[in-house]
Amino acid sequence: MAGLLSITEPTENINNSIIADNIKSDSDFFTNTMQAPTAPIIGSREQIAELFDLPLMDLLLQAQTIHRQHFKANEVQISTLLSIKTGNCPEDCGYCSQSGHHRDKTKLEAEKRIDVDKVIAAAKRAKATGSSRFCMGAAWKHPSAKDMPYVVELIKEVKELGLETCMTLGMLNPDQATQLADAGLDYYNHNLDTSRRYYEQVVSTRSYDDRLNTLDNVRNSGINVCSGNIVGMGESRDDRIDWVHELLKMPKAPESIPVNLLVPIAGTPIGDKVLAEGGLSVLEWIRTIAVTRICCPSSYVRLSAGRESLSDAEQSLAFMAGANSFFYGDKLLTTGNASQSGDDRLMRELGLTKQFAAPRAPKLLPVLDAVSGHESQMVLAD
Ligand code: SF4
Repeated sequence: MAGLLSITEPTENINNSIIADNIKSDSDFFTNTMQAPTAPIIGSREQIAELFDLPLMDLLLQAQTIHRQHFKANEVQISTLLSIKTGNCPEDCGYCSQSGHHRDKTKLEAEKRIDVDKVIAAAKRAKATGSSRFCMGAAWKHPSAKDMPYVVELIKEVKELGLETCMTLGMLNPDQATQLADAGLDYYNHNLDTSRRYYEQVVSTRSYDDRLNTLDNVRNSGINVCSGNIVGMGESRDDRIDWVHELLKMPKAPESIPVNLLVPIAGTPIGDKVLAEGGLSVLEWIRTIAVTRICCPSSYVRLSAGRESLSDAEQSLAFMAGANSFFYGDKLLTTGNASQSGDDRLMRELGLTKQFAAPRAPKLLPVLDAVSGHESQMVLAD
């Protein structure tokens, strides 16, 4: 059988040299075992732009090949997202129905913090249906001092169920990030949304640097970083290139990267504009997923908002492009999602399996032998 490298051998242009650098051999392509994460090979803005310009099939082939070098093939991680405080957000994100700035037009009904018991019940349902991670989102600029004990309790209770935890609560200072880390939070989501240049078209109540500062605080606390984008907000391809470049400029690429396709919501400034002028081609969203997979090979690339409007074939292309995570359940924070039964059927048809949550590390108790003075650790039973 012809080697994959032969696809790249006849030409000498830089695009194909990127492919040749990344595709090691035929055997890599068919390897289904997990390999140790490696640093991104792509680093410069020019290289990212060249990837975006590749013929789509070349791009998909490269993305799927790199995906299989870093993750088990045909396995997807599934998360469930719950809004723990909805609406009346003081930020003015131009795409979001939860912003208090767009409330008069979107008519979204705000909800106060929901009770811990209700969150735990939702987490149990999520686990029973196969989710390995439970994500909790609150429409805050940042958590207040009185919110912190509530979110700390949620993290501890959800982790007790054997689920990974993720939160998205707005901006965090270093102390708040440490409190969440100490409670055992696994992931913190804080999307960059788009390029630094386009960001001011999206939100005016905070800056790109505010966003990066929170991501730094999360990274420094030891919590895994989840940070993605929203494509189709009227940004250019240059903005999508710059967003990928921002990920690569971080000390470490986010462990989880949601690539959202805008769900245009009537009554929001960006939603109204996209509804009037038309949205982005789905294939450009697929390209963005593939480039993200190639540039951040050991990150989970997540399909998030926008899936409900896509056909089976379009979603299949997204998995081909290297996406290996998605949200399960009929609702995201406030927008609809693909139906769970539809997801189960599609996974069966594609031969995809669910990844289970990593087992929790055992609790260790330091023990000091009074006679010998020797220190050791005892494993506590759950
Ligand atoms: S995206 Fe988040 S921060 Fe922005 S308005 Fe919506 S809830 Fe608030």
